[in-house]
Amino acid sequence: MNKTDRPAISVVAPCFNEEGVLPEFLQRVGAVLDRLAATAGPEAAGSGSTEIVLVDDGSTDGTWRVMAEAAARDRRVVAVRLMRNHGHQLALTAGLSICRGARILIIDADLQDPPELLPDMMTLMDEGADVVYGQRRLREGESLFKRGTAAAFYRLIGRLTDVEIPCDTGDFRLVDRRILDLLLAMPERHRFIRGMVAWIGGRQVALVYDRKARVAGESKYPLKKMMGFAVDAITGFSVVPLMASMTIGWIMAAVGFAFFLYSIVGWFLGVNLPGWTSLMAAIGLLAGMQFLMLGVIGAYLGRLYDQSKGRPLFMIRDIVGGDR
Ligand code: UDP
Ligand code: MG
Repeated sequence: MNKTDRPAISVVAPCFNEEGVLPEFLQRVGAVLDRLAATAGPEAAGSGSTEIVLVDDGSTDGTWRVMAEAAARDRRVVAVRLMRNHGHQLALTAGLSICRGARILIIDADLQDPPELLPDMMTLMDEGADVVYGQRRLREGESLFKRGTAAAFYRLIGRLTDVEIPCDTGDFRLVDRRILDLLLAMPERHRFIRGMVAWIGGRQVALVYDRKARVAGESKYPLKKMMGFAVDAITGFSVVPLMASMTIGWIMAAVGFAFFLYSIVGWFLGVNLPGWTSLMAAIGLLAGMQFLMLGVIGAYLGRLYDQSKGRPLFMIRDIVGGDR
């Protein structure tokens, strides 16, 4: 596409059962974009210069109705409906591959990340950043469990991989078109987008902010989805778990050898060895470790299998709005 045909900014938000927050989301994002257009001067103004891409990730409530109505009312809004629930990262990928902007704001629909930070992000990008990512200082309205697991997760992934994945960031960020095109060229299915963007490199700059509570509804990330997300992140960015079997093997071998020495000494001294309990303990430990490592291998193998099927990452059912 010609550079001048591009909207200056695309806002991309995945939505799963977000009918309660969408009106306020559209109102606040719209206001921010209006203000930016007003300060950008006449050549950037006009409804063609920004777009809001909303992706309905197989919602079961009125999300699609709200979106399609917004797209009919507001030329900036593009509503995309996926065939079914594909999950946050793939819904986001669908939106990213449809958007056309020169700069792309990735944001959750629940307004936990304030769209009002966009002007500051734009300034940082004017100063030469390729990516401006939001880094959370506070997380309001989230349970101790959510905050604790999130903090532990970002520290764990930091230790397991060489890629500099910044701590306490979400997908909330402003991305330059060049970076986005590189991201979209990555074919992997199990996507951990914040890690993939970090992997691309370029000039990545943090903008510290306080994360708010959800405006309405509840988290669409139950424990099960959170675990899947963490496994995708770890297996996508580290082979340390695969190597762990070697470390564990060495430790088990050392323990086994110590037992062996102990039993020989005991035999010479005529000590009555309490055999059964320790034997069962050793077998249990070994069997446990073996199953654990089989699970690790299975996790990576499963991902290889999924990838080798080469199925599309997402399937679109409808697109309304814009000129599409
Ligand atoms: N989301 C989605 N598909 C899903 C789960 C979530 O598109 O299967 C969207 C959701 O609508 C929201 C964003 O992803 O815009 C982040 O989800 P949520 O706010 O529930 O996660 P949390 O902030 O609790 O981690
Ligand atoms: Mg949220």
